[in-house]
Amino acid sequence: MTCIRCHKKPALSDQRRAMLSRDVGCDVPGDLCYQCIVEDPAYHHAIISWAVRKREETIQTLRNAIARPLEAIDRWVDSLRG
Ligand SMILES: [Zn+2]
Repeated sequence: MTCIRCHKKPALSDQRRAMLSRDVGCDVPGDLCYQCIVEDPAYHHAIISWAVRKREETIQTLRNAIARPLEAIDRWVDSLRG
């Protein structure tokens, strides 16, 4: 299905919509593409806040891995063991 707003990009799949709704903490529409959802004032703040949090988590994870590489390697090996 194509986005009902821009008529160019594919709308989010049900799975992607559910994941994004969970991540940002509010229900996002299923008939829009990601770009149109981000640009919609109703969802813009929630999505940008989530993106900033996610970026800070990633940076912290990288900092921890650089500061304590052996622990990071141990966690990675543990993750492979499932
Ligand atoms: Zn769109």
